[in-house]
Amino acid sequence: MTAARHAPATLTIDLAALRTNYRRLREQVHPAICAAVVKADAYGLGARRVAPALAAEGCRQFFVAQVDEGIALRRVLGSADIYVLGGALPGSEAACLIHGLRPVLNSLEEIRRFAAVAHARRRLPVALHIDTGMARLGLDRGEFDQLLAAGGLPQGLDLALVLSHLACADTPAHPLNRRQRERFTSALTRLPRVPASLANSSGIFLGTGYHFDLVRPGIALYGGNPLLPRPNPMREVVRLEARILQVRNVDRGTTVGYGATHTVPRRGRIATVGAGYADGYVRSLGNAGFAAVGDVRVPIVGRVSMDLITLDVSALPATATEPGTPVTLIGGACPIDEVAAAGGTIAYELLTSLGQRYHRRYHDGSGAA
Ligand SMILES: *Cc1c(COP(=O)(O)O)cnc(C)c1O
Repeated sequence: MTAARHAPATLTIDLAALRTNYRRLREQVHPAICAAVVKADAYGLGARRVAPALAAEGCRQFFVAQVDEGIALRRVLGSADIYVLGGALPGSEAACLIHGLRPVLNSLEEIRRFAAVAHARRRLPVALHIDTGMARLGLDRGEFDQLLAAGGLPQGLDLALVLSHLACADTPAHPLNRRQRERFTSALTRLPRVPASLANSSGIFLGTGYHFDLVRPGIALYGGNPLLPRPNPMREVVRLEARILQVRNVDRGTTVGYGATHTVPRRGRIATVGAGYADGYVRSLGNAGFAAVGDVRVPIVGRVSMDLITLDVSALPATATEPGTPVTLIGGACPIDEVAAAGGTIAYELLTSLGQRYHRRYHDGSGAA
């Protein structure tokens, strides 16, 4: 990737805010351990910069989704524990051993496979995933019974962590939260005493009864609101700005953009801004989203194009919207969760969709990029 020095859009990632968010969660869950989920390139923010910043705060446990992500992360992290949540496919066992990755074992078949490679070498630390209500990954009730009937994990596998994942943590009143916790607790009583983990970001806020020994926040570290629709307790980490490329006066009746989906209701001004769906600015924000010039919100009118969006800036003085003026798309007056909601999605998807064309800036609090 060449430096996008001339890019019309800038993605700024505030590593100091990220670190503050980590400390905040760590204090909240103490004495439980606060790990960090950095899958999908740290939710699009760049694991190469994010993970070392968290490690500098004392984070020692990291979770990725895939083996290749783990291999890349190992290159930037020294001795940290790296867990691979899923997808340790047949053939990837040796890579896990070589790079010191800890597979999260999701089925009896995976347990058998990793036992076969671990047996020949030294003991392999692993995590065991018990499904308590997602029906996605992890041992179901029957498989768990079978595992115990067979005497637990085979020789060679060192059980370092037992985990499960909440389906409805963002809905505190949902009865599945308590049911999953009960199932998890009852499964733990049938295993040797090892560290246990249940909570993601929202799960942390369900209370200490959900913390167990280790929590696995992702989105809250990156500034997403784990408490929606209540106020966001986390600091903003991501800001996306793009510049105005052109401004035009439009008469009543003019249509804007592909499909002519917006008709100008009265004489006004349209600003064209240099970011689009190729940058992960999702198309569903067309005629639905908003941006901000300074602190003033302006609506997106017309469809989102590949490289461009169009804003109705009639409410602002022409001097405030000169070509070159940066417009905020995410952050500040456009909180990420609100932008996502306007586009019918969630902050997770917006972040992980952010493309590679931006000029990326990392702030670490000392003013350095
Ligand atoms: C992605 C993921 C997390 C992190 O979830 P957030 O909601 O982003 O905090 C935790 N645990 C598992 C198993 C995950 O897949």
